[in-house]
Parts: sequence; structure tokens; C-alpha cells
Amino acid sequence: MPDLNVPGQYAISLETGLIHPARLRLSPNRDARPEGTAPAMIVLHGISLPPGEFGGPQIEALFLNELDWDAHPYFDEIRGTQVSAHLLIRRDGELIQFVPFGERAWHAGESSFRGRVQCNDFSIGIELEGEDETPYDDRQYDVLVHVARALIQAYPEITARSIAGHCDVAPGRKSDPGPALDWLRLYDAWGELVESDTL
Ligand SMILES: [Zn+2]
Repeated sequence: MPDLNVPGQYAISLETGLIHPARLRLSPNRDARPEGTAPAMIVLHGISLPPGEFGGPQIEALFLNELDWDAHPYFDEIRGTQVSAHLLIRRDGELIQFVPFGERAWHAGESSFRGRVQCNDFSIGIELEGEDETPYDDRQYDVLVHVARALIQAYPEITARSIAGHCDVAPGRKSDPGPALDWLRLYDAWGELVESDTL
């Protein structure tokens, strides 16, 4: 695995909507954004399958519609779900892209952000492998900070102030990424990035 934690290393192609370096596993769970709609926010998620277990292949399998629904009692509860996210950041910092940024990933469901509904239409979904109550890994913060910087630079409508949790855009229905995510740590980093961007 390449070292993903070098500042400024990420590059986004506006033509393909892909970030480099990332491992590409195209999800079938994607479609076109509404015409004329560009990414304007980032929705952060936490996911683990089964819940609370890290390191297995099940998240990727879910996003690729390859999960064995009979393999665990929890999988039966989500049987048939067709979901995706643009990016997954694993505990070790590995970055995987499932949907090009120009297309719509299926991650937020019924949601709204500052009065604008259906966040999937205008957001980029980033899943952190994790669980609401378990601290996220330092390597995930490092990757997330720099990926967000690359997205802010690539898509003018995205700013450090338009990054929200799934729990914020679907309150009462979703709890991820949970209280375990240290938003102050992120805002500290993004504040510096925004400041340096304006110089
Ligand atoms: Zn979520």
C-alpha cells in the first residue's frame, strides 16, 4: 500500500471524478446527479459490518452488492439494501473509491442540509470504517483531512463549512459517524487549510 498520509499528495481529476491515489472498486449503486448539480457538501459516515467489527471484506461487499446476506444475523436485517459511498477510509488509512464524484452515490437517504433536501444529489459521501462510540484511527483523520482539502480545491461549492455528519443531515434517523468523531480536530485542520488556501 502506498503511503497515503503525505500532505498534498491527493489529486482529483474533474474529467473522471476520481481521486488518486485510491483503490477503485466501482459500485453499481450509483446514477447521475440532477442536471447542472455539482458537489456542494461532504457527508461523513461511520460504518462497520457486522457492527463493531473492523477489518473484514463486508463493507466493500455491501457496496458492490456482493454481501452474503446469510453470513451474519445483522446482514439479514439489511438484506437487499443497495447503497454506496464515493469513498471509504479504512482503519489503516486505506482509501477506496466506489463512485466517481460527478455521479450520485446512495449514502444519505432522506436528508437535508441548510434547507436543501436529498443530500445525495449534491454531496460527496465519505464512509469511515468505524462505530459511533469507538475512537476513529489517527490514520483515518490524516487521510480525511487531506482528501477533504483536495475536494475543497476541486469543487468550488464545497467549503470546510459544508462538511456534515450523516447524523446532522438525517437527525433522529441516523447516528453515524457518532460522538466518537472528533470534529474539533477536523475543524482545526480544515481551518488551517482554508486559511492557507486563501493566501
Ligand atoms: Zn451513514
